[in-house]
Amino acid sequence: MQREVDIPQFLFSSDTGAPHERCMVCNSYLLNEGFPYFIEKSVRQFPELGTSEIIFEYALCFSCSASFNAALSETSRQRMAEYFARYGRFEARREKLHDAPVDEWVAQCLIKDTPIAAAPEYQIVAQCAGKKLVVNDLPFAISLEAMDEIAALLSEETLGEMDDFMGKYFTGPPELAELLSKRPPVLL
Ligand SMILES: [Zn+2]
Repeated sequence: MQREVDIPQFLFSSDTGAPHERCMVCNSYLLNEGFPYFIEKSVRQFPELGTSEIIFEYALCFSCSASFNAALSETSRQRMAEYFARYGRFEARREKLHDAPVDEWVAQCLIKDTPIAAAPEYQIVAQCAGKKLVVNDLPFAISLEAMDEIAALLSEETLGEMDDFMGKYFTGPPELAELLSKRPPVLL
């Protein structure tokens, strides 16, 4: 059974202080009831200063996300699926966190089980439907350590294809395009 809750503040757009309204790629409006999309956010932390900065954050509709994932090579997709199946522990998490507040779903690295607060960098992936957050396999957080492992799974072929895809559809800043082309694909 999946649970739906209000979108928590840590997934709001930091520009507006409100939920993301548009798909980053196709500009679709996201907040109509039941409209499916993902939010992804990457944060760098400076524990010694007690501060953090957002590396990127965006919302991506299901259809654009599917196009991204389709741009992955077969090899990359397979490696990625095996990696998440082996280390993701989705079922155990669902049981353990069942009714827990959403903060707890992103408190530990999905893969390494280490505290996210201690990671120099982390990425959060969440699934939403309109104004609601869908709690099931997502949301999860991935620490820098796991992000590096995931990036290493992507083949040269995939990186080239992702670049092509971004060149064709993406109109934002090039730094963001580069980060996106290394994103872990969301499991649907
Ligand atoms: Zn879109």
